[in-house]
Amino acid sequence: MSEAVLPIAIIGYGKIARDQHVPAIRADPRFRLVATVDPYATLDGVAGYCDVDALLAAETGVKAVAICTPPVVRHTVAKAAIAAGLHVLLEKPPGLTVEAVAELEALADSAGVTLFTAWHSREAAAVDSARDWLADRPIDAVRIAWQENIRVWHPGQEWILEPGGFGVFDPGINALSVLTKILPVMPVLVSARLAVPRGRAAPILASLKLRTGDAPVSVEFDFLHEGEQRWDIEVDTPDGMLSLTRGGAALSIAGMPVASPENHEYPRIYTRFADLVAAQESDVDISPLKLVADAVAIGEEVETEPFSFER
Ligand code: NAP
Repeated sequence: MSEAVLPIAIIGYGKIARDQHVPAIRADPRFRLVATVDPYATLDGVAGYCDVDALLAAETGVKAVAICTPPVVRHTVAKAAIAAGLHVLLEKPPGLTVEAVAELEALADSAGVTLFTAWHSREAAAVDSARDWLADRPIDAVRIAWQENIRVWHPGQEWILEPGGFGVFDPGINALSVLTKILPVMPVLVSARLAVPRGRAAPILASLKLRTGDAPVSVEFDFLHEGEQRWDIEVDTPDGMLSLTRGGAALSIAGMPVASPENHEYPRIYTRFADLVAAQESDVDISPLKLVADAVAIGEEVETEPFSFER
């Protein structure tokens, strides 16, 4: 085996690990998947461990981990991995709080390992083009509509509405990750309204008002949306409206479609992770998490009717 190949384990072998991380790792010659860690789920032909301590005690040769657990356990798992000298890729959101991620950054720095806060939506096909087009343009207004049906995209994932589950901010933070990448001036939260179902801990709807410079940014996150699913950002400029749709995969400017390459969010994440490890660098960006934290801190919370995954 070449020295450059990184033996990697996936911690949290759930939906996103199966759908995206395994194919992306297997397609990248700079990685070799040596293990999964999950309380129950395993992957045929790959060593499986029920917790991170069991992984660290075994002789797998692992040098890196991708942490794909629900966010509430991510910090403990990441700390153990960093203490063992492993490079760490964190699925979004990178932690429950801004300070918890800052602590991981300092620990990774001391341990001389890479910490990468991956924001997969930033790797969508048209996001770089949108950022480049907006870079030197004044912005008049921004609108975000991130509207998806929790029952379709997260069936049975009760953890999403529990404390630390982020609720509608679980998908919504993807929009904020794109927003903070494409806008030339970092957005600031102005106000928020969060609707939390009775008996649940996290919002299922959120309306945010932000500003970028003096331009208003309105954000609608809807986790109950049953019509056409939308992951759209519109930016008004004096040169026309930029419309970034399909979660950042498609772009039009002033009504004209702009050709984009194929969408390869997770392969791009692993390219970046391998480059960071090779360069002995970290990439830690918490700006989307800060906006969520601000919304929760100052948002007006209203109670809505109880929610059940089963109707
Ligand atoms: P999921 O299907 O619930 O998978 C999470 C897995 O982690 C489950 O198998 C869970 O096991 C396991 N787990 C829990 N605690 C663990 C621990 N201490 N050590 C090891 N494994 C543990 O959730 P998901 O949809 O894949 O989402 C996981 C993360 O990826 C979330 O932060 C989410 O925001 C992000 N993400 C999800 C998507 C998506 O479309 N689903 C897209 C991009 C990013 P149990 O079920 O037995 O507890």
